[in-house]
Amino acid sequence: MAIRVFNTLTRQKEPFQPIEEGKVKMYVCGPTVYNYIHIGNARPAIVFDTVRRYFEYRGYDVHYVLNFTDVDDKLIKAANEMGEGVTDIANRFIEAYKEDVGALGVKEAVDHPRVTENMEEIIDFIQGLIDKGFAYASDGDVYFRTRSFESYGKLSQQSIDELRSGARIEVGDKKEDPLDFTLWKEAKPGEITWDSPWGTGRPGWHIECSAMAKKYLGDTIDIHAGGQDLTFPHHENEIAQSEAHNDKSFANFWMHNGYINIENEKMSKSLGNFILAHDLVKQHDPQVIRFFMLSVQYRHPINFSDELLRGAKSSFERIQNAFENVKHRKETSLDLTEDNDQWLSKIEAHKEQFIKEMDDDFNTANAISVLFDLAKSANLYLQESQTHSNVLSAFEEAFKELTGVLGLEIEAAEELLDEEVEALIEERIQARKDRNFERADQIRDELKERNILLEDTSQGTRWKRG
Ligand SMILES: [Zn+2]
Repeated sequence: MAIRVFNTLTRQKEPFQPIEEGKVKMYVCGPTVYNYIHIGNARPAIVFDTVRRYFEYRGYDVHYVLNFTDVDDKLIKAANEMGEGVTDIANRFIEAYKEDVGALGVKEAVDHPRVTENMEEIIDFIQGLIDKGFAYASDGDVYFRTRSFESYGKLSQQSIDELRSGARIEVGDKKEDPLDFTLWKEAKPGEITWDSPWGTGRPGWHIECSAMAKKYLGDTIDIHAGGQDLTFPHHENEIAQSEAHNDKSFANFWMHNGYINIENEKMSKSLGNFILAHDLVKQHDPQVIRFFMLSVQYRHPINFSDELLRGAKSSFERIQNAFENVKHRKETSLDLTEDNDQWLSKIEAHKEQFIKEMDDDFNTANAISVLFDLAKSANLYLQESQTHSNVLSAFEEAFKELTGVLGLEIEAAEELLDEEVEALIEERIQARKDRNFERADQIRDELKERNILLEDTSQGTRWKRG
C-alpha cells in the first residue's frame, strides 16, 4: 500500500510515487530569522518533521531541506532597531530556532541552506530567467514577467485575470505589469548589499527557494511543503520561477498545514495573544506540546488554549502510564510463551491500524487514537491473572515504535532524569571536595525529594529510586 498524500495542486489525495526509488526529496520553507518563532511556525516544524519520520519509518531515505531566510526587509529593520549586524541577528535566531524546535523533538534537516550563502546560485538563477525572457531588469530591480508564465495561478487555483483585477500599478513603479513580482531589489543607502549584473542589491523573497531547491534537490522534487499562508503568492511564484527556468515540473506534491488559533481567535500582536514557542517550551513539557500539535490532522485548523494543552497532558499520560505499567509488570512476570498468540496478534493489529491511518495523508489524530487502543489493550492484558514476558515485551516495543514515529519519546522523562541524577551526583562529589557541605546536603535533599536515594560507599556514591 502506498502512502496517500493530499496534494494542494490537485486538491486530492494521491498515492505517493517517488521520483527515485526509495528516496524522498523534500523542501520545506523555513523561517525568516529576525525573531523567536511563534507557535504558528512551530506547527509546520512539527508536522513536516512527522511526515519525514513516517517516510523514514516506511523505509524511505528522506533528503529534508529547510531554508533560513537570513536577509530581508524585516531583518534589516530589526538590525537597525537593535543596532546589530544582519548576520549577527540571523545567527542568533537560527540558533534559537534550532534549540526551540529541537526541544519539540524536531530533527535537524539534512541541509539548512541560507540565502546569504547561496547568493551566486540566486544571481545565476535570475540571470537564467532574464536570458529566457521571463524576467527583466528595470532601474536596478529585476522583476518576473508573470504573464509570460502560462500556468500561473495553478496552485492557488486563480486565473491570471482574477488576479489582475486586484492589482494596480503604483506611481513610480518600475514594473511592466502590476502582477510582476520582485526577483532582485536595488539597495537603499546603508543597507546590506551584494554585487550583481543589475547593480548592488539583494534578492526578493521567492527566488531563494527556487534556487536552493534546485541546488540541493534538483529540478524536480517530490514534496514541497509549508504553511497554508505560503500557498499564494510565495509558492505560486516559486512554481513560476522554477518551471520557467528549468523547463520541468517543480514539485510533484505540495503540502500545506492549517492555521493555529489561540482560544478561537487568530493569533496577532494587536490581540495580545502572540505565543512564542521559545516561551512555551519552558512553561510546558515539549513532548506534550508536540502531542497536542499532532492531535489534529495537519490540514485542519488547530485551536490552542491552556485548557486544551492540559487535556493533551493527561491524554499523553494515559499512554505513558500504560507503558510504565507494562514495563513494571515485566520485572515480575513469568517467562512463559505459550497460549498468548491472540495478544501478540492483537498488538500486530494495532500496529497495522496505525500504519493505515498514517498512510492516509499522515492522519496523526487517528494514529493517536490507535495509541489509546493500544493502551487499552495493554491495561486489559495486565488484568489477566497470568501475564507473559514475551507479550509484555511486544507491548513495550509497540509503544516505543509507534510513539517514536510521531517523534514522541515515551521514555524520555526517565532517561533525562537519569542524566540529571548523574550530573547532580557529580556536582555533589565536587562540592564535598571543595568542602562546600551546604551545597552537598542541598543536592542530597533535592534528590530525596525526587525519590532518588544516595548511598555513599567506599567505592563511591551509589543511587537508587526510592
Ligand atoms: Zn519558500
